[in-house]
Amino acid sequence: MSTIATAKKVPITVAYGDGIGPEIMEATLRIITAAGAALDIERIEIGESVYSKGFESGIEPSAWESLRRTKVFLKAPITTPQGGGFKSLNVTVRKTLGMYANVRPCASLHPYVATKHPRMDVVIVRENEEDVYGGIEHRQSDQVTQCLRLISRPGSERVIRYAFEYARANARRKVTCFTKDNIMKLTDGLFHKVFDEIAAEYPEIEHEHWIVDIGAAKLADTPEQFDVLVLPNLYGDILSDVAAQMTGSVGLAGSANIGDHCSMFEAIHGSAPRRAGQNLANPSGLLHGALLMLVHIGQSDVAERVHNAWLRTIEDGIHTYDIYAEGVSTRKVGTREFADAVIERLGLEPRHLRPARYAKGVQMRLDPPAPRPRAEKRCVGADVFIDEPNGDPDRIAERILRLPLDGIGLTVIANRGTKVWPNGDPETFRSDHWCCRFEASGGTFTPEHLVRVLQAMIGAGFDVIKHEGLYTFDGARGYSLAQGQ
Ligand code: NAD
Repeated sequence: MSTIATAKKVPITVAYGDGIGPEIMEATLRIITAAGAALDIERIEIGESVYSKGFESGIEPSAWESLRRTKVFLKAPITTPQGGGFKSLNVTVRKTLGMYANVRPCASLHPYVATKHPRMDVVIVRENEEDVYGGIEHRQSDQVTQCLRLISRPGSERVIRYAFEYARANARRKVTCFTKDNIMKLTDGLFHKVFDEIAAEYPEIEHEHWIVDIGAAKLADTPEQFDVLVLPNLYGDILSDVAAQMTGSVGLAGSANIGDHCSMFEAIHGSAPRRAGQNLANPSGLLHGALLMLVHIGQSDVAERVHNAWLRTIEDGIHTYDIYAEGVSTRKVGTREFADAVIERLGLEPRHLRPARYAKGVQMRLDPPAPRPRAEKRCVGADVFIDEPNGDPDRIAERILRLPLDGIGLTVIANRGTKVWPNGDPETFRSDHWCCRFEASGGTFTPEHLVRVLQAMIGAGFDVIKHEGLYTFDGARGYSLAQGQ
């Protein structure tokens, strides 16, 4: 304890948030301070009060200075106003400060918290910046909207390496990856490929890949088969909530958003406004976020003391309303009394649950991905998308084939990804959104080819919505074929 008390104070930024935020933050800080956390706290305002001043991202410009200075952010939940131009503060902070990995441990507390999965102990590492969370969406025709899904090699490398480094540092035996690369061969295919490459650098850690649908079903059925999971953003968003709920309550889980410049630690739940100000809320989710923070700033011994005292409190049946159960719980307590009970148990370990043991002094190797030689990129064609209500594919093809496009061939027309020309099937549903694929007969499709195609299509009265280049990289096809092509 004396070494803890004399440790150099680490500056952190703290936001008390909205709803139950201030109560659970007060409880969390009281517990970790009593356990000897050496912290120098800078407080910032975020959330409702800031949104109401007209800052659409929920954070004042001056708060960024504190985050950039301390590089560590302990954040209580906030209330995101509905509608308007308001943006999610979490997404803004994560993406602005490059927090690429979201880490969420989900462990059962059987038999002290009711769960159907008594032996569950998984850590979900979710990619945090890419995928559909770019929020790049367009309505392109009367009937069709699109969302652009971007998966990058460096983005995948960083989060997957983090998952393996996390497994190594925490003596975890296996890392599992879920993707849907049987359908999304390029985007999820890249994530899977990078997973295999990085896994090869960690021969001591078992690795496996599942298609996300069957993987998710297995996770829901037998979570004890899994250890660390690494997932693209959307799958991770969904499955980390499912996993947290499977342990008994989303109110218990915390998460870390890890970046090179700044990392953010929080509960996974929201501000629960209906429970606010009544000394009811369970502070455990935020406390778990704070444990991840303590490990991150090198105070693993404090994290271990707090975690074990918390396990003992849960084991002693001292429960807030959300996990209280007749016959298991011994006392229903409020936020403050729960914090008092954890503080009273500092120095104790659980009697039956497995005590928490945090690795000490293990450095993760998280260098940014090394630059790679760029692949040789060649343009071989273009997909030109048109908005054509009540269109008939044979009629569209006929009109295009009449255009003066020497040396450029129309190879396929697709509707919502399915081939409808040549030789389309009459049963295939057709929206007003058509993709016409052009390829150069000589192999290379030049910018002049593209200009000729676009001019001819627009000149013929087609409503051209957008075009996508068709490229090969070191000779490998960098675009998908239409279904049935
Ligand atoms: P919520 O997680 O705030 O609450 C859902 C329900 O879960 C609550 O009504 C309550 O019964 C229970 N609950 C949640 N946390 C609890 C705790 N610590 N102790 C006891 N019970 C708890 O979800 P919501 O009601 O959908 O969202 C409320 C607000 O929070 C919204 O404005 C939403 O945008 C925001 N939100 C913020 C964050 C964040 O800041 N990270 C995350 C999610 C939601």
